[in-house]
This record gives sequence, structure tokens and C-alpha cells, in this order.
Amino acid sequence: MIIFGKRTAYIGSKTSSNNIICTHCETKGEIIYSVFRSHAHIFWIPVFPIGKRAVSECQHCKKTLSFKEMSPEMKKECNTVKNEIKGPIWQFSGLFIFALLIVFAGFAGKKDKENEAQYLSSPLAGDIYDYKTENSQYSTMRIIHVSADSVYVQLNDFEIGRSSKIYKIDKEENYSKKAYGYSKDEIKTMYDQRIIIDIDRE
Ligand SMILES: [Zn+2]
Repeated sequence: MIIFGKRTAYIGSKTSSNNIICTHCETKGEIIYSVFRSHAHIFWIPVFPIGKRAVSECQHCKKTLSFKEMSPEMKKECNTVKNEIKGPIWQFSGLFIFALLIVFAGFAGKKDKENEAQYLSSPLAGDIYDYKTENSQYSTMRIIHVSADSVYVQLNDFEIGRSSKIYKIDKEENYSKKAYGYSKDEIKTMYDQRIIIDIDRE
């Protein structure tokens, strides 16, 4: 469940110019415009700003006006103030977190590839190869023995339609007792051709 919504933050104020007259008490130049900016949040982390709104208050008679209630002159000045007051960067926090996650995922992916290259060049008994079958299903093979130029594997008797679900069939009882041998070159070719799609080591 994702909890998301909208929140509003006060981001600043500015006093009106002297030619703005309070429509309520007729005092000049005593109006303060206060600007608010809303942001979308997911799990209470601000993600991005949605929009600004402003209200005015007369410092003399304390009358407050929404934007709709302002005189045309006030609206014009208020719009300028709204544009001048920049919202805080923290209202984008979620986007920064998201960007960081992408960068970390990138590093993790790169590390994973480095590990795989190392597992491929020096296989060990117990390594699991996830591979694509001839009929475009997915299955696994498990190394049981490694010699100078070959690896011996047990094949998984089961296959599954989605590569992300391979873990469901990677069970001890699914492996055939029969061993098959591949040369290390054959294994490398299968990896290069993306027949072997992943290498896992405990
Ligand atoms: Zn007033």
C-alpha cells in the first residue's frame, strides 16, 4: 500500500507597495502577501511541488483576503510576489532519494556483473546457472564438480515461464541425480549468448 497525498508549506511573505489600499480599512501599504506551496508526498516524503497560492492580510485591520477576493491591483502585485518567492528545495526530497536509489541500483548491478564474470572464469561446485531453455522457458543447473577444462552439472527437472520466478524451482529435490559435462568454453559461449542469464553463488 502506498500512502500519498498533498501537503502545503508556508514559503514566505512580502509587504505590498505603498499604492495598495486595504479594501476594508483603506490603510495604504500595510498589506502582507503570504505565499504557500503544496507538494505531493509519498509516505510523508515530499516528492515534487504542485502549485503556489497566496493570501493577503492587512497589518492594520487584520482583514485577510483569498486571491479571488483581492482587487485587480492586488492580484497583479500578488502574482509578482508569488513568482519572486522560490519554494524550498526540500519539497523535491523524494526525487533526490529516487535518483540516489537509481544510482545505487546501477552500482549494485555493475558489482553483480563483476561477480558473474569472476564466477564464470573460476566455477565452483554449488554455483547455480539460470538458463533459458530451447522452448523459451527458464530453468537452472547446478555445478557438482569442476575439472581443469570442464564443469559437471545436475539439471533441474522443472522449468518456469518467467525468469524472475526461477527461485521458485531452485530446490534440492528438483535436481536430477544424473550429471552432464560441459567444457568451460561451452559454458562461456552460453553465457555470452545469454542462454545462461544469471550465475548465483551461495
Ligand atoms: Zn485593513
